[in-house]
Amino acid sequence: MSKYSFEEIVSHLKTSGYVYQGSEIYGGLSNSWDFGILGAALKKNIKDLWWKEFIEKKPYNVGIDSSILMNPRTWEASGHLKGFSDSMVDCKECKGRFRADKLIEESCGLSAEGKMPEEMDKMIEENHIKCPNCGKHNFTNARPFNLMFKTFIGTLEDSKSTVYLRPETAQGIFVNFNNVLRTSRKKLPFGIGQIGKSFRNEITPGNFIFRVREFEQMELEFFCKPGEDLEWYKYWVDTCYAFVKRLGIKEENLRVRPHSQEELSFYSKGTSDIEYAFPFTDWGEVWGIADRTDYDLKQHSEYSGQKLEYRDPITNEVYTPYCIEPSVGVERLMLMALCDAYDVEALENGDSRIVMHLHPAIAPVKACICPLVKKLSAEAKEVYEQLAEHFAVEYDEAGSIGKRYRRNDAVGTPFCITYDNDSLVDHCVTVRHRDDMSQERVSIDSLREYIEERTRF
Ligand code: ATP
Repeated sequence: MSKYSFEEIVSHLKTSGYVYQGSEIYGGLSNSWDFGILGAALKKNIKDLWWKEFIEKKPYNVGIDSSILMNPRTWEASGHLKGFSDSMVDCKECKGRFRADKLIEESCGLSAEGKMPEEMDKMIEENHIKCPNCGKHNFTNARPFNLMFKTFIGTLEDSKSTVYLRPETAQGIFVNFNNVLRTSRKKLPFGIGQIGKSFRNEITPGNFIFRVREFEQMELEFFCKPGEDLEWYKYWVDTCYAFVKRLGIKEENLRVRPHSQEELSFYSKGTSDIEYAFPFTDWGEVWGIADRTDYDLKQHSEYSGQKLEYRDPITNEVYTPYCIEPSVGVERLMLMALCDAYDVEALENGDSRIVMHLHPAIAPVKACICPLVKKLSAEAKEVYEQLAEHFAVEYDEAGSIGKRYRRNDAVGTPFCITYDNDSLVDHCVTVRHRDDMSQERVSIDSLREYIEERTRF
């Protein structure tokens, strides 16, 4: 776990331009966040990287972009209308409202995931769980609360015009199964991925951007022949874990947790979560990988009356494929990367520096170009313009060079490039590295290649 408190990290992210409070000038909207200059760039880099690694570089996979609003029958078929609820309890004393499974987990460390409301009531009683706000033990019975946001389509606000903001992107993929098969000529196994907003009216959002009501998901639905599913399930658990490790996340802060038999959804043959030791909890889910069998395609076939099946081109055998789903939230992945990257280092001169050791591939700014003195600004700007064609770079001439280095360390910029008087003669610049503060002379002509090589994933 990070040696820094979550409060310290969050405060740095707020002041440095990663995240702003949502609707701040109106006093905010609880648990809503806006991504600032650096946060927006980091998010985009994470999404681009996922798309490259999971869609473009995997010959099996293709990407789509489906609508947030879907025919409500979708949510009947998927089970979300009936079953997408968390159990909530109210404290009768202070009126605090809690998600029952999280209350149990956080109070006595027992897992209540997938338990029925009555079972949770029993656990709250038996363990004499107290309200985290007021310390009393006086709760209402647990009752289900549907997490889907409702809205209306068109001019009438009645039950016939009710639609839902999607709580996951996955269903937009299942309903397009036949379209993708028809237009891609894919053969099994193949995957369909997408990135998009999802909405959940969480009972207890919180821990900054960890649990929010509006977030983005990067989901892949990977279809394969029944019988080959467990092999592919393992492949995707390993692939997702390797992705996280390549991002430079410290291994001691990571674990893969297979779900126990009683935690598994009734249709799942296996589910594992990649978890991170966030500073606010022991372990928090970042990425869920599930073998969903043929449940989703079969449900949509039944509810839509359209066959969602696959015909093997060689054997002519017709069957419903099994599906492996790796699903990750952009904000959670981002929070993990930021918590893991944050560091405060003591310097030889007695000062300290904040440094974000983000993987250069996702760092919001790749390099900052600094003239050593202002009279070299025209030449330094030329270097900036040359690099801006290829990378997200910045130009900074304000303050001492040491201060400029510190500012860039604190937001995770991997390189500072200083143009000095010698540069006029040798056409080289000093490249200063964020992580070890080492410096080297690099010719201006080779800067593009130099940065490209060192910011690759
Ligand atoms: P949790 O148990 O934390 O509520 P979940 O098991 O319901 O999560 P999934 O439905 O498996 O989550 O969603 C897949 C991924 O989407 C999660 O691993 C997480 O990264 C992300 N995610 C889910 N809910 C939220 C949320 N409210 N805010 C931010 N990200 C979320």
